[in-house]
Amino acid sequence: MKIVVVGGGASGMTAAITAAKKGAKVTVLEHRDRVGKKILSTGNGRCNFTNLHMSADCFRGASPEFITGVLSQFSEEDTLRFFEELGILAKEKNGCIYPYSEQASAVLDVLRFQMEQLGVAVRTEEQISNIFCKENFVVKTNHGSYDGDRLILACGGQAARSTGSDGSGYVLAKAFGHNVIRPVPALVQLCAKDLMFPGVAGVRCDGQVTLYVDGEPVASDRGELQLTEYGISGIPVFQVSRFAAKALALKRQVFASLNFLPDFSEQRLYYYFLQRAVNQSWKTMEQFLTGIFPKKLAVMLLKKVGLSVMTKAEACPASSWKGLADVVLDYRMPITDTKGFDSAQVCAGGVDTREVDEHTLESRLVKNLYFAGELLDVDGICGGYNLQWAWSSGYVSGFHAAEE
Ligand SMILES: Cc1cc2nc3c(=O)[nH]c(=O)nc-3n(C[C@H](O)[C@H](O)[C@H](O)COP(=O)(O)OP(=O)(O)OC[C@H]3O[C@@H](n4cnc5c(N)ncnc54)[C@H](O)[C@@H]3O)c2cc1C
Repeated sequence: MKIVVVGGGASGMTAAITAAKKGAKVTVLEHRDRVGKKILSTGNGRCNFTNLHMSADCFRGASPEFITGVLSQFSEEDTLRFFEELGILAKEKNGCIYPYSEQASAVLDVLRFQMEQLGVAVRTEEQISNIFCKENFVVKTNHGSYDGDRLILACGGQAARSTGSDGSGYVLAKAFGHNVIRPVPALVQLCAKDLMFPGVAGVRCDGQVTLYVDGEPVASDRGELQLTEYGISGIPVFQVSRFAAKALALKRQVFASLNFLPDFSEQRLYYYFLQRAVNQSWKTMEQFLTGIFPKKLAVMLLKKVGLSVMTKAEACPASSWKGLADVVLDYRMPITDTKGFDSAQVCAGGVDTREVDEHTLESRLVKNLYFAGELLDVDGICGGYNLQWAWSSGYVSGFHAAEE
């Protein structure tokens, strides 16, 4: 069995290894000068390559059945076993799994070593000009042509394009008649229209972000928020960003609400402020908020409710405490854009999974054509889920493609 894998990323290399282990003669065609470039930047260079808390609701896009159909064939435990066999000693932090060396390059290296050992032919700088499909597949490139009984498309999406995934996989999928659900950036920073923001840039604080589309809450997450000159960032913002990107693409109204003290109810915070004002009545408002919020954030919150930083706490009317509590718990801003594909970690959207068999990842439209990885309309939340999708779908496509 001859298999051509287009794309030498996380999913393509896993597909190649799996198929080669089953005896297939595998060629990986990569258009960049090296394989697996994106893996190097994962997890801030440490590669969070899976997560012990795995379930279908950590993924979006495709139906839960499609996702579990794939994950059940290659779970997080299989991932741990797979990489252990390749030589990665893993370590865990809050469910997230990293290589013990905390070097993403180690994950890429062991995949490369294994491909070499199995005799996978890795061809880099291959620019695909055409793919013909008659009895078998013939892939024409700048260097010649490669034929395979089976073809696996594993080209990624178009996030972080400098790492190689430039969206050309969508073009190849469309050429085979597949529908591509419009990709948008996900796990990405959000741009907000808020005049207060330049002054507060650089602040990091715990909080909760809730995203509203046309006035309805659609997603929420809690953790470390980062306020920047253009808007908001941090893991909780990444987690809700795909919903913002999808809604913005449809020209819907999006705003975010930040809660800087999510453990307080509105009433509790109001009374807390009143009581604190009794004990600390002599303080200016800026001094009053010291110990609760970073200084820049305190100044921004006071400005938002029209209070001077120099106002004495004892001079604040009850309505101002109420206003301050409101702003602290529900700081709203219109979201105007995302920071785009080049800043995004993944894409939401991709090859419509209704056209792909969830047990084999074979196309329902073209026999012997398979898909793997982010090219499919599946995106995971932060925490090792996107690489797990790449390993799982790589394994499933490689395994079934190699079957006689
Ligand atoms: C900064 C950053 C940090 C991340 N951190 C994490 C993390 O810690 N944990 C996690 O789970 N996920 C993380 N991700 C997401 C994860 O890296 C991706 O989801 C995963 O790499 C997708 O794998 P893939 O094989 O589908 O695509 P890719 O890894 O993008 O690989 C696709 C490959 O195909 C090649 N290619 C594309 N088109 C063609 C073509 N036409 N011809 C030939 N070759 C082609 C590309 O050059 C590339 O090598 C991160 C992403 C980024 C950008």
